[in-house]
Amino acid sequence: MQTPVSLADLALPSAAEDCAGNAAERMRRLAEKAATCTACKLAETRTRVVFGSGNPEADIVFIGEAPGRDEDAQGEPFVGKAGKLLDKMLAAMGLDRSRVYIMNTIKCRPPSNRDPEADEVAACHPWFAQQLDILSPKVICLLGRVAAQKVLQTDAPLKALRGRWHELNGMPVMVSYHPAYLLRSPQQKRHSWRDLQLLCQRVEQLEAGEQDAEL
Ligand code: SF4
Repeated sequence: MQTPVSLADLALPSAAEDCAGNAAERMRRLAEKAATCTACKLAETRTRVVFGSGNPEADIVFIGEAPGRDEDAQGEPFVGKAGKLLDKMLAAMGLDRSRVYIMNTIKCRPPSNRDPEADEVAACHPWFAQQLDILSPKVICLLGRVAAQKVLQTDAPLKALRGRWHELNGMPVMVSYHPAYLLRSPQQKRHSWRDLQLLCQRVEQLEAGEQDAEL
């Protein structure tokens, strides 16, 4: 795992850094641009753009569906009860939010927490794609049906997608349950834990491969 970076602690970039840009600075600049986005109708009903949070140099990126009421109010992804459960899941993996990056497929809350519509996902895709380009994580974990179907561009049900590896732009992708679903169906937590173990194992394997290559 790499050293956590606090976005709040970042100084303004020098001219040279502005051209090249490290991941944290590039992410800060992208989030700043997205904060005023009006590219789809969700801009009319949102309170805040919920861009993403965590370490832009993280090995693992968690992606959910869309901001909910608490996220919309606070401007942070995965807060409230589902966010607390995600924190516990991270802790079980020996991680915390400073060592991963957390984001959603779209950045503004759909009214009444309905599923994001196709035109909204399409309008938000450039932000999503640029974010992933900056992150270039070792592994991605998609949380829940909507995120899995949107990102993997499939109509397959969650039960057919979760617990196994997929690929996105050469990056390994695991699909697991959304913490909000686990709150409603706690009996599924053991399956979720197995998915997270697979995630950790994959990161360890990739790190071991990198170390071998350096020898
Ligand atoms: S959901 Fe995405 S595209 Fe739509 S207004 Fe928000 S940031 Fe812009």
